[in-house]
Amino acid sequence: MKSKYVSLPKGVSESQFDAAIAKFAGVLGADNVLTSLERLASYMKIMIAEDAAKHAPSAVLMATTVEQVQAIVKICNAYKVPVWTISTGRNFGYGSAAPVERGQVVLDLRKMNKIIEVDPVLCTALVEPGVTYQQLYDYIEERKLPLMLSMPAPSAIAGPVGNTMDRGVGYTPYGEHFLMQCGMEVVLANGEVLRTGMGGVKGNNSWQVFKWGYGPTLDGIFTQSNYGICTKMGFWLMPKPPAYKPFSIKYDNEADISEIVELLRPLRIAQIIPNAVVIANALWEAGSANVRRADYIQTPGATPDSVVQKIKRDKNLGAWNVYAALYGTPEQIAVNWKIVSEVVRKSGKGKLITQEEAGETQPFKYRAQLMYGVPNLQEFGLYNWRGGGGSMWFAPVSQARGSETDKQAKLAKAILNKHGLDYVGEFIVGWRDMHHIIDVLYDRSNEEETRRAHACFSELLDEFEKRGYAVYRVNTAFMDRVANSYGSVKRDVERKIKRALDPNGILAPGKSGIRI
Ligand SMILES: Cc1cc2nc3c(=O)[nH]c(=O)nc-3n(C[C@H](O)[C@H](O)[C@H](O)COP(=O)(O)OP(=O)(O)OC[C@H]3O[C@@H](n4cnc5c(N)ncnc54)[C@H](O)[C@@H]3O)c2cc1C
Repeated sequence: MKSKYVSLPKGVSESQFDAAIAKFAGVLGADNVLTSLERLASYMKIMIAEDAAKHAPSAVLMATTVEQVQAIVKICNAYKVPVWTISTGRNFGYGSAAPVERGQVVLDLRKMNKIIEVDPVLCTALVEPGVTYQQLYDYIEERKLPLMLSMPAPSAIAGPVGNTMDRGVGYTPYGEHFLMQCGMEVVLANGEVLRTGMGGVKGNNSWQVFKWGYGPTLDGIFTQSNYGICTKMGFWLMPKPPAYKPFSIKYDNEADISEIVELLRPLRIAQIIPNAVVIANALWEAGSANVRRADYIQTPGATPDSVVQKIKRDKNLGAWNVYAALYGTPEQIAVNWKIVSEVVRKSGKGKLITQEEAGETQPFKYRAQLMYGVPNLQEFGLYNWRGGGGSMWFAPVSQARGSETDKQAKLAKAILNKHGLDYVGEFIVGWRDMHHIIDVLYDRSNEEETRRAHACFSELLDEFEKRGYAVYRVNTAFMDRVANSYGSVKRDVERKIKRALDPNGILAPGKSGIRI
């Protein structure tokens, strides 16, 4: 018999679910319990190469208080209903707002959006999960606080809690967001509320300034996991520097990539360049500047090199395009700029471009904004390149060495092109590590291309793993697959922790491949 629900949780009958829904409505009010297809539609809109039905939620719950979240997990335990938590729900290319498994109830915390405290003296913030970067940016600007945010590219609409819980990154010197997190409030599966770090000490005021507390430091186990629901997060903000100098370096040849990393890594590790150094390829530059593939070529499949060369010439793009910035007083910047520009000049390669030279041109403008913590959505231009709304991030991590780059770029390009897709990629020198971020862009409205994109992603994972690489984060279609890359002992420990903290397995079963 056809259910009145869009989907049902695994092992839960319709009548049991009716009873759970009535309980949820008792806690949240009927308006905050969504079950109709119409109201669930936006939670089912995924960009990954799988059938949306595989990730269809059974209901969405909108909570506004910690007590409501506590009551929800108790109902979930009673009725064995699995619950998938989102904060601002903009995890595009990693699964969006949809759950990892069909039938999970989505707990949407976007209405819990209080900025609890911003301390301009100690440069800290404490926020609820629904707070967006735009909201926090406006708060800081309206009060003229001398603080700077760090945010991912979908800045305006995403938020610090969701991004940090998934260990996302930004582009200022505070861009490794989990490193800058300080103090968490977490609702556990049994409904208890845990405060990490100094948060459990009565009368203590150091929750947002001292990360470690006493005994085991627990914050990390709640990120990219399913051990608790974060209801408050503290983090550090960078004091707004008196001066700022973003710059770009354009390299004409694909073969230059190895030398670029060797040149810039020492400056990055020594903090002369204090933010992550982005090295974007020509198609990434083109896409984020709103170039459409269809304007150059109508035939499907991988874009020929000759066309990429033409786009490079037309749009004045490098084969590799470096973005980084200097921060501090004008005197500090002058000293560091001398060091950076000398290194580039001596190498005899690369064209340095300053903000004055770039003016309002894209993609320089949005990169400069992101490196200064100003929200914008320019990078969504990548989705116009091929069109059709398909995107999956492939993000292997390696040492920040030049010798890592060329072989990875060639391998990725060969696999993508074999599946009729393009290599749209960037390397990001975080500190000592390097993230190779590839946007697997495809037309999701085309079933055959969607199948190819899925096979392509699988092959990328396999071939990179054979060479000792693993990704730092992955979309909901491949979570078990990637958990395997990290070894059976780690999986076993994760399962033991899961069983101890969440014996009924109600919190996001399947997140990062973790289940009871
Ligand atoms: C063009 C483009 C560029 C992008 N660039 C970047 C980038 O530069 N850096 C980057 O990091 N990402 C990037 N992304 C990916 C993604 O959009 C961002 O990471 C975004 O911040 C995630 O969405 P969110 O902040 O709304 O988090 P959410 O979707 O709310 O949360 C992400 C995940 O964290 C977990 N989670 C969320 N809240 C909680 C909670 N309260 N308790 C427990 N678990 C929770 C859930 O598993 C959830 O699926 C990009 C995406 C696009 C489309």
